[in-house]
Amino acid sequence: MFKKILIANRGEIAVRIIRACRELEIRTVAVHSTADVDCMHVRLADEAVCLGPPPSNSSYLNIPAVLSAAHITGAEAIHPGFGFLSENDHFAQLVEEHDRTFIGPTPENIRIMGDKIRAKDTAMRLGLPVVQGSTDVVTTLADAKKWAKKIGFPMMIKAVAGGGGRGMQVAMNMEELKKKLQFCKLEAKNAFGNDAVYLERYLENPRHIEVQVFGDGKGKAIHFFERDCSVQRRHQKIIEESPCPDMTEEARNGIFEICAEAMAKMRYRGAGTIEFLYDKGEFFFIEMNTRIQVEHPVTELVTGVDLIKEQILVAAGEGLGMTQRHVISKGHAIECRINAEDPQTFAPMPGKIGAYHAPGGPGVRIDSHLYAGYRVPPYYDSMISKVITHGQTRDEAIQKMRRSLREYVIDGIKTNIPLHRSILEDSSFIQGKYTIHWLEKWLASKNTSS
Ligand code: ADP
Repeated sequence: MFKKILIANRGEIAVRIIRACRELEIRTVAVHSTADVDCMHVRLADEAVCLGPPPSNSSYLNIPAVLSAAHITGAEAIHPGFGFLSENDHFAQLVEEHDRTFIGPTPENIRIMGDKIRAKDTAMRLGLPVVQGSTDVVTTLADAKKWAKKIGFPMMIKAVAGGGGRGMQVAMNMEELKKKLQFCKLEAKNAFGNDAVYLERYLENPRHIEVQVFGDGKGKAIHFFERDCSVQRRHQKIIEESPCPDMTEEARNGIFEICAEAMAKMRYRGAGTIEFLYDKGEFFFIEMNTRIQVEHPVTELVTGVDLIKEQILVAAGEGLGMTQRHVISKGHAIECRINAEDPQTFAPMPGKIGAYHAPGGPGVRIDSHLYAGYRVPPYYDSMISKVITHGQTRDEAIQKMRRSLREYVIDGIKTNIPLHRSILEDSSFIQGKYTIHWLEKWLASKNTSS
């Protein structure tokens, strides 16, 4: 087992990883930018190394600085968390070349699944049901027209290097395709430094269902059931839950095995998430995330398994701590992502936290790096906390979430807690009858009625 792990991340996920390390009696090294000297992960870790100035490119994405920090402190392994360097195969490769262990998939696993077109091709070969789309990058309008004939409208134009819900456009007809293709390429170039785009059938009213998987890298793989992440704004998840409140047992059980088998076949190592759109009983693979996800606590609460510890154990070569029949889903879990933002305009609202009180009690978990007096910096993601509740039934999990959000005090800045509270009172949400477009429509109806 490792004696010391460096966590190449910040905020709540860095805190979460430090907690898992402590329980495994592993020492921790935090890294941080000059803006994050007072961040909770820096305070909790055994050691801390400053990587550079606030912009991510100079700090959390500064590969030479991260590797130097691992060398200076003698950390034997690096946990990348999510975002930042977590899906960078070049980084994973360099970590290994520097005789450290990357806590995550092999560079090859990341490479295959990181390119969205290649990932779909691989998924298809591994037996996963895939959403129909172009099998290559689309560069010219002539190309796009050729594919449009096969795929049909409506169609989605997606950036190959896209992520975080950005770099996607819907085209309803040829005219729109013509206009949006150039726009999407330009946007992709600016946002991701890569203007490659591809086309995909646009599913009009699906749910977003993802399957948590884990592989030992040697041909064994298991699944940890599904998460429903359909409550989204601008393709970004806001609320996640498990199990999905509206899916047949038949559909559910079929897809899990297919996913685990696919991961075994590709000798996948560590934690991963296979994302699908689910429509009228059918699953359509859209992408795979080769890392731990923001919403992993939902799965932890229903299965009772600490997924971060599992990641560390697999990386240390100890194999999977369980077989499939030991993974049991019990009750229902829901997560609300708390963002430092204006609940009306969604504009980020960094600033200094005044009074702070986190909810607790049975079935309530808070993953956060906040404390009274902490200043939320303007440079990074606006997510500042995750409230996750677990009940024997979905109704109980919702009740626990409602009371937790009433108890939660985060003074000094605006957050989206009021938005979560109204969603949790909505009858469609309570009935579990929502798809990926539900929240946007709901927000639009609120705006017109107010
Ligand atoms: P990202 O990597 O940016 O998260 P994804 O491919 O995972 O992008 O898609 C994010 C979200 O965008 C999905 O959850 C879904 O809401 C929407 N989406 C993606 N592909 C499609 C599609 N083919 N049809 C309809 N919606 C889609």
